Amino acid sequence: MADICDFCNSPNVVKRFGCRDFKAESLQAGVVYPYTRDAVGPANLVLASYDYWAACAACAALVEARDVSTLVKYVLDEYEKQERRKHPQRQRLEKHLKLTYDLFFDNWTGETEIVVAS
Ligand SMILES: [Zn+2]
Repeated sequence: MADICDFCNSPNVVKRFGCRDFKAESLQAGVVYPYTRDAVGPANLVLASYDYWAACAACAALVEARDVSTLVKYVLDEYEKQERRKHPQRQRLEKHLKLTYDLFFDNWTGETEIVVAS
């Protein structure tokens, strides 16, 4: 199974963090999206987390340092690099991701699995 980093989408996964399932609703972070990929009109976007989170070396280091604000910035910067454009809803996503990662830390089982490159 080919993993990608669940934070920044990098294909170079080095670790997996065990996590209990949770949902992160944007409304909980005070964020209503004017549109989403699936909906037009004000939308409460729900990000659902199942099972473990895979991470590349950069994201894994930020997770282990529990540096949520740098992690959010890194992920958004990587998205913009990969897409070669500014994220159109960056400020909303920033708040929503912060909530999501806070919940990830609340639900992290503490298990860390090293992924050996194949
Ligand atoms: Zn990453």
